[in-house]
Amino acid sequence: MLNKVLIANRGEIALRVLRACKELGINTVAVYSKADRDLLHVRLADEALCIGPAFSKESYLNIPSIIAAAEATQAQAIHPGYGFLSENADFADAVEQSGFTFIGPRADTIRMMGNKVAAIDAMKAAGVPTVPGSDGAVCAETALAHAQRIGFPIIIKAAAGGGGRGMRVVHDADSLLSSLEITQAEAKAAFGDDTVYMEKFLQHPRHVEIQVLGDGEGAAIHLGDRDCSLQRRHQKVVEEAPAPHIPDAIRAEVAAACVKACQQMKYRGAGTFEFLYEDGRFYFIEMNTRVQVEHPVTEMVTGVDIIKEQLRVAAGLGLSYQQSDIVIRGHAIECRINAEDPANFLPCPGKINYYHAPGGLGIRMDSHIYTGYSVPPYYDSLIGKLIAFGNDRQIALQRMRNALDEIVVEGIKSNIPLHRDVILTDTAFNEGGVDIHYLEKKLGLG
Ligand code: ADP
Repeated sequence: MLNKVLIANRGEIALRVLRACKELGINTVAVYSKADRDLLHVRLADEALCIGPAFSKESYLNIPSIIAAAEATQAQAIHPGYGFLSENADFADAVEQSGFTFIGPRADTIRMMGNKVAAIDAMKAAGVPTVPGSDGAVCAETALAHAQRIGFPIIIKAAAGGGGRGMRVVHDADSLLSSLEITQAEAKAAFGDDTVYMEKFLQHPRHVEIQVLGDGEGAAIHLGDRDCSLQRRHQKVVEEAPAPHIPDAIRAEVAAACVKACQQMKYRGAGTFEFLYEDGRFYFIEMNTRVQVEHPVTEMVTGVDIIKEQLRVAAGLGLSYQQSDIVIRGHAIECRINAEDPANFLPCPGKINYYHAPGGLGIRMDSHIYTGYSVPPYYDSLIGKLIAFGNDRQIALQRMRNALDEIVVEGIKSNIPLHRDVILTDTAFNEGGVDIHYLEKKLGLG
């Protein structure tokens, strides 16, 4: 096993990685910005180093600073968590070139998947079903021909896009060229690359994704699916595993295609194939080459510790499971708890005067907050993930309702009322299988 891991992240995921390391007897190094001295994992880590000012660019996105911290502490490997540098191929390269192990896929895999046009190409070649689209970059000269062939409405997407940004839906030919120009300009500004491509805009899809693990040598398994259709502004709000009401044969077929793709590319570590699911068919949209926020729901229904598998693979120990070992049991739901105003969704950083975590059978709370902790204004507003597991979906839902009644976060506003009073009481959500537009429509934002 690895002897020392540097955790290049903050918040709940840094704590999650720290816990897995401690379980495996791995020493931990926390790196933090000046705004993050009071993070829980910083207190619990064997060593902790400040890597720069609050602004992410100067700390959590500062590659030289993180490499220097790994050198100073003689860490063996670096876990990037999610967000920040986790899908930055140059960072993965820098880590390995400096003699450390990057806990994630090879840099060339990250680079390929970071370019959605290249990713879609690779998936098509591997037999993974994709959205009908331009099959490559589009420009002003080719846009109309592509759009007419695909059929309106279409969606223009940045090849280098992420985080729900750099996308625009176009309903008719009149607005095509202006939408193309705007999306190209946005893509250039946000991602430094103005390459865009086109897909059929699916009208009522669900977002269903497949979790995979690969050993980097050609062995790969899947851990089933997750439904992440409850979104606001392309950001997930609630996730669950398994995805409700999908025929087993269709589920098995898409999962097998993902495994095959991983075997072919000798995928290393944890990854997620994201799909849109509509009218009984799956359409690949992108692959995430890191652990995802919503990984706990998969852990609850499979019993697999995804972070520990990442650490094992990075240590060269391979996966602890074969596909035949994986059994999906019960149902799990995750509510993302954000420090934000439940009415207008504006971030609400500040001091938490009182925090009480929910509990009981089947309840898991992954969070770095505590009474007296101040949520800094500089980062993502996620302050925790509340996960409920049950032998079936009904039990998981009821445990989630109970937990949302129990949890107390005082001093700052949070989206707990949104989960408790709006989502968990919603009839269609309780039946399962709502589409990606459902939440926004319900909130009157559609
Ligand atoms: P990002 O990398 O920014 O998250 P994705 O390609 O994963 O971008 O898309 C994010 C979300 O945008 C999806 O979950 C879905 O809600 C919506 N979306 C993307 N592609 C399409 C499409 N072809 N049709 C309808 N909605 C789409």
